[in-house]
Amino acid sequence: MIGPDPEAMQRYSFFSLARNALSQHEGWQRAWRSPPLKPDYDVVIVGAGGHGLSTAYHLAKEHGVSNVAVIEKGWLGGGNTARNTHTIRSNYLRDVSIRFHDVSVKLYEQLSRELNYNILFSQRSMIDLIQSWGKMRDLRRRSLAMALHGPAYQLITVDELKRRIPAMGDLSDVRLPPLGGMLHPEGAMARHDAVAWSYARAADARGVEIHQHTEVTGFTFAANGAVTGVETNRGVVRAGKVALATAGNTSHVIAKAGLNLPLVTRNLQAFVSEPVKPIIDVIVNCPDVGLYVMQSDKGELVIGGGTDPIPSYRQGCHFATFEDVVASLVELFPRFRNLKMLRQWGGAIEFAYDASPIISATDIPGLHVSTGWYGGFKSIPVGGLTYAHLIATGQPHPLAGSFGLDRFRGLRFLLEAGTVAQR
Ligand SMILES: Cc1cc2nc3c(=O)[nH]c(=O)nc-3n(C[C@H](O)[C@H](O)[C@H](O)COP(=O)(O)OP(=O)(O)OC[C@H]3O[C@@H](n4cnc5c(N)ncnc54)[C@H](O)[C@@H]3O)c2cc1C
Repeated sequence: MIGPDPEAMQRYSFFSLARNALSQHEGWQRAWRSPPLKPDYDVVIVGAGGHGLSTAYHLAKEHGVSNVAVIEKGWLGGGNTARNTHTIRSNYLRDVSIRFHDVSVKLYEQLSRELNYNILFSQRSMIDLIQSWGKMRDLRRRSLAMALHGPAYQLITVDELKRRIPAMGDLSDVRLPPLGGMLHPEGAMARHDAVAWSYARAADARGVEIHQHTEVTGFTFAANGAVTGVETNRGVVRAGKVALATAGNTSHVIAKAGLNLPLVTRNLQAFVSEPVKPIIDVIVNCPDVGLYVMQSDKGELVIGGGTDPIPSYRQGCHFATFEDVVASLVELFPRFRNLKMLRQWGGAIEFAYDASPIISATDIPGLHVSTGWYGGFKSIPVGGLTYAHLIATGQPHPLAGSFGLDRFRGLRFLLEAGTVAQR
């Protein structure tokens, strides 16, 4: 059992693997504890997804705040962190968004080493396929904005596209033939479970408690209106500060505190094919037709598209969206026509009206929120870093000062589009 001492955390290495093999792998420490729920904490974080766990880790590491409970209604990492297609990129348009996501990519590059946990980070690059002149103009604008900040986003020709993605068809009779592509060498993938588990283990080692199967059902307040804790299915837990990291559940969780956020909730679906031999070694994103595809380490093609066209909390298959994505896939990659699909799933994602994240204090003293994660897997390292800073110091982190709720009152929107087509 490990306690509040990062030095006591068992090191994972080739040698510890070999050593433990000698004892039939029965000597491994538990990766995190399951301590009894205490009646009060300095900080209660609601939601043990990547963002909640990364926030807990950074609270303990950078701010010495370790009397923290992360409260999770299901199991840790079982929300959208488990449902996403794990692409990581920093090809955004607005200055603050580019800087924010560039730091996240850099943190991801070091994460396996920092947390001593192999997150299977694979920086294989992403190519945005351009099939209309409007998108060409849009993405060239994006590449010029990015050139000011560091991450690369280079225009490549159709011949270069074909060289980098040989699995594509001959493209001569596709409805929207590609006009070129944008190459983002920093584009990457990482194993999503490993990201949640690595942060959980490292946060636990610094004294953070993780309480699974504990649902927050309401909030408690002081006479002055400040939040004083949460009500759960296991009783009331008092807290100096409460921080929501509940992703697609945020609008109805925060409604229990009487707040209404500028969020819309939609189903985002993905699916994987049967495994095949290595055939695509980059992430291919087609914003004009609403499709992205990559190959997992197991050989499955991981395929996704845009959100369903209507707001909903359903997490399933909207067949029209599914059909659109598959039609685009087989048009660009005719050889995938005979592949069998193995699994399909959806997740309720909540995004702000300007599609930028919200990392903010709220009108209720002591209650904080991190949400609006349209594609928030990529942002887990920097999201946790900046949210922890806000919770601990009361001041927004310099990287996330523009992501407060006040931007909606002051009309300082940060309009970003998703990478795939928006309806
Ligand atoms: C199909 C799909 C594909 C995606 N692909 C990508 C991608 O390629 N790249 C990318 O960057 N992003 C992607 N995303 C988005 C990404 O998954 C999310 O933005 C990210 O996982 C959000 O992390 P989180 O920790 O905030 O949320 P979650 O992992 O959902 O964690 C929130 C947790 O809060 C818990 N919770 C909720 N309510 C309560 C309550 N009342 N009490 C206690 N606990 C509660 C939930 O059980 C959950 O575990 C995708 C999403 C989907 C659905």
